[in-house]
Amino acid sequence: MVLATQIPFTSICEHHMLPFTGVAYLGYLPGDRILGLSKLARLVEHFAAAPQMQERLTKQIAEWLNEHLQPGGVGVVLQAEHTCMTLRGVQAHDARMVTSELLGALRDDPAARGEFYALTGVARTRPFPTTVTGLPDRHHRGALGLVDSAGIAELAS
Ligand SMILES: [Zn+2]
Repeated sequence: MVLATQIPFTSICEHHMLPFTGVAYLGYLPGDRILGLSKLARLVEHFAAAPQMQERLTKQIAEWLNEHLQPGGVGVVLQAEHTCMTLRGVQAHDARMVTSELLGALRDDPAARGEFYALTGVARTRPFPTTVTGLPDRHHRGALGLVDSAGIAELAS
């Protein structure tokens, strides 16, 4: 497995037009093509350049890798702090959102998936394909399909 960790990125939340900043973890099971670290970083930068939703950004990166490298599997994890959440009050300080997208063997093979998550070191608290931690605001909860307060309380604990 090829894994690039802690690729820094900054994007703009398309809903609030405020920055979100974080790191990306990109992994794939190589086929014929390999992409260098600088190209992986540029790929993240490319999709982060426009106003985004973190979940869609995660998917776009994974789908690009899947299409262009034709690997055995792809895993992408983004971990970011959204200023549209942290600016809103004490409770949301340190709120971080984690999203992941898995394709191919990294989605279907528990061993490969486990290896990927172990290498990223990102704690996983929700089922695939999207994981969320922290305290997303209403917009982000809706965007990520987290609508019940019980779910949010569970994430916050
Ligand atoms: Zn926002």
